[in-house]
Amino acid sequence: MKKVMVVGAGFMGAGIAQVCAQTGKRVYLMDVNGEALDKALSGIKWSLEKFSAKGFLNEPSQTIMDRISPVKDLLYAADVDWVIEAAFEEQDLKERLFKELDSLASVQTPLATNTSSIPVTRLADVTKIPERVLGLHFFGPVPFMGLVEVIKGEKTSPEIFNRGVEFVKTLGKTPVKVHKDVPGFVMNRIFGAAFRECVDLVADGIASPEDIDIGMRLGYGWNIGPFEIADNAGLDTFVRVGKSMQALGEQNLVAKSDLIVKMVEQGRLGRKVGHGFYKYGKNGKKIEGDT
Ligand code: NAD
Repeated sequence: MKKVMVVGAGFMGAGIAQVCAQTGKRVYLMDVNGEALDKALSGIKWSLEKFSAKGFLNEPSQTIMDRISPVKDLLYAADVDWVIEAAFEEQDLKERLFKELDSLASVQTPLATNTSSIPVTRLADVTKIPERVLGLHFFGPVPFMGLVEVIKGEKTSPEIFNRGVEFVKTLGKTPVKVHKDVPGFVMNRIFGAAFRECVDLVADGIASPEDIDIGMRLGYGWNIGPFEIADNAGLDTFVRVGKSMQALGEQNLVAKSDLIVKMVEQGRLGRKVGHGFYKYGKNGKKIEGDT
């Protein structure tokens, strides 16, 4: 049985851990924050029970839960075949984590980052074996979204890149290969360019978030609108990604307006707290017509 360590038990880390366990892997889910670990485990349990009730699982949800061990120490990296880092989008933090993971994990173990913006090469450069560092960029909510970008850093070996592609397939996901390591990779460069414009249109009073979401759904066939995507992802994460993009010189992918920064200051972090661009009920469902 393959063993995976997921570092960071937030929105993405919890989802990645769930999908790894659902596809038969043993998982160490690591976070420095005990509350984040508790929340991740109860969220995964809830999600698996829903899947089970709908007949989507071919084994009891508890069997899948039992494959996930919450841990607070990176030392468990020594015992795994894959490491996937999904901590806050802060380059300093990720560099510290990669330095430590590099010294702990077996030399055979690929070290992947789920960063939204930071070039993989920057994280690889703090390690002694940059050839084994790659990007595995999941989309949230991970149990539902079929795509994972596989990113080749400047020094990622072809063997590790191919292992990344194959690993993604074992999760039942579809890999999109990114051959050059640019900030935001492919999907976040495209989304960032569109979303920057969406936010500035709202900030300038040209259209409401609701109407832009309707427009993108009905006009361009998106399944959900850009503001719904942002609420799901977490506006605090969007602010971190924006800051990171800016620091990387990618101003063209960041809104001019500080609308989202202000919303985060007011505690409007998105669906997870019940209020972002939209309001959400206790069941997590969007309250139509309420913003
Ligand atoms: P989040 O805020 O929900 O979770 C981040 C977690 O990292 C928190 O639980 C925090 O306690 C933990 N953490 C902080 N310092 C740590 C440390 N030293 N060791 C271990 N854990 C630590 O954020 P998220 O939305 O899950 O995003 C995580 C990463 O995934 C970021 O790099 C983000 O850019 C990326 N990402 C996010 C999305 C999205 O839709 N939210 C999509 C793709 C990629």
